[in-house]
Amino acid sequence: MAPSNPEWQEGPSANVVIVGAGMVGASAALRLAQRGVAVTVCEQGDPGSGTSGTSFAWTNAAGKRPRAYFELNLAGMAAYRRLQAEAGGVLPGFHPTGHLEWGADADGWEAIETKVTEACGWGYAAVRLPTARVLRELEPDLAVDPRRVPEMVFYPDEGHVDPPVLIGWLLRRAAALGAKVWGGARVVGLDAAAGRVCGVRLASGEHLAADAVMCCCGRWTAEVAALAGARIPLVAPEPAASEAVGLLLLTSPLAAAVGRVLSTPELNLRPAGAGRLLLHSRELDRQVAWDAPMEPLPPQAAEALSRLRRLVRHTAAARIEGARIGIRPLPADGHTVAGWAGELGGFYAVVSHSAVTMGPLLGDLVAAEVAGGEASPLLADFRPGRFAVRG
Ligand SMILES: Cc1cc2nc3c(=O)[nH]c(=O)nc-3n(C[C@H](O)[C@H](O)[C@H](O)COP(=O)(O)OP(=O)(O)OC[C@H]3O[C@@H](n4cnc5c(N)ncnc54)[C@H](O)[C@@H]3O)c2cc1C
Repeated sequence: MAPSNPEWQEGPSANVVIVGAGMVGASAALRLAQRGVAVTVCEQGDPGSGTSGTSFAWTNAAGKRPRAYFELNLAGMAAYRRLQAEAGGVLPGFHPTGHLEWGADADGWEAIETKVTEACGWGYAAVRLPTARVLRELEPDLAVDPRRVPEMVFYPDEGHVDPPVLIGWLLRRAAALGAKVWGGARVVGLDAAAGRVCGVRLASGEHLAADAVMCCCGRWTAEVAALAGARIPLVAPEPAASEAVGLLLLTSPLAAAVGRVLSTPELNLRPAGAGRLLLHSRELDRQVAWDAPMEPLPPQAAEALSRLRRLVRHTAAARIEGARIGIRPLPADGHTVAGWAGELGGFYAVVSHSAVTMGPLLGDLVAAEVAGGEASPLLADFRPGRFAVRG
């Protein structure tokens, strides 16, 4: 990764069009509006209808590498706490529940041990708890035998998010400060004069003037960035077992209570509201095609359900109510991209996997860069220029 930000080139902008109303665009809209910038958010569908609406949405940093990427995610977790305080103590859609993890065998435990040792060395919070205590005090419905799994790791600062709820809150606050949010507004072109972006063109034929355009388009970033001559390659979802593809399964309301994010050898799960759980497994992700039909339910739904029944008591009557494919906005080298990009001045792009964890932080940082002309040291390793030269 580039060690510095050679693309740093822009002064403050006063009139910004944000393309995309996911976690990143909504967070940036609020922070720009708070800085007194005139903001218009153009969203081709509804706010939150992109990947932010089909995400496991767990906030975490442990195991992310290199150090600079870990630090960005860790700062992302801290940004949630600040936003929570700003919201008066309860941030809509944010659930700071903590996360429990354990391994199935020696290899599984070794991987966890390596991750925890590194993360704790970098200031992360993780503690080992006896399973008997977890079952008594935290998760009584877990069907885990303490003789086979005597300990678990608890990460108290992790949590999960309901992104559409949080996006709605962010955009309402931005709108109260004067931001305009346009749904059904697809950006299909950029207007430019004297080598600089001066607005966007919508599919409806309308033009919106701007002195900077911020691309927060998630998995659609490459297309929109290309309008400014910027190259930001993402991992394609089409090849079999693409890392970009994820399968999420929503259960029916359950008699069982699960209060936290659980990452277990067979299944990851977390509360999803109204007594439901959201189920996910990287292994099952690799078995589905990005365009596989979700009705009738794919075979992986039955597999996830039987794993759930082995893992959590009182789930015999559980059903899978819905299955959805999400496409991860995964830059080609796996890491965040944020900065001025392309051949036209005034075009800024920001895209990342883990942009639920980092959404509020990225909103803060990119608003400071675009509105205040303040380059963030946290973003120094993540500039789009690293992709500029065609291979
Ligand atoms: C299965 C799965 C599990 C995940 N788990 C986690 C996790 O546990 N933790 C975590 O932090 N992250 C996770 N992620 C990743 C995370 O969800 C994404 O990084 C994040 O949601 C991206 O947010 P975004 O705002 O960048 O993109 P999006 O939410 O996709 O928003 C981009 C928006 O831009 C709009 N748009 C695109 N092109 C145009 C255009 N031309 N004109 C107008 N609008 C346009 C889209 O409609 C969309 O609404 C997961 C993703 C998946 C798929």
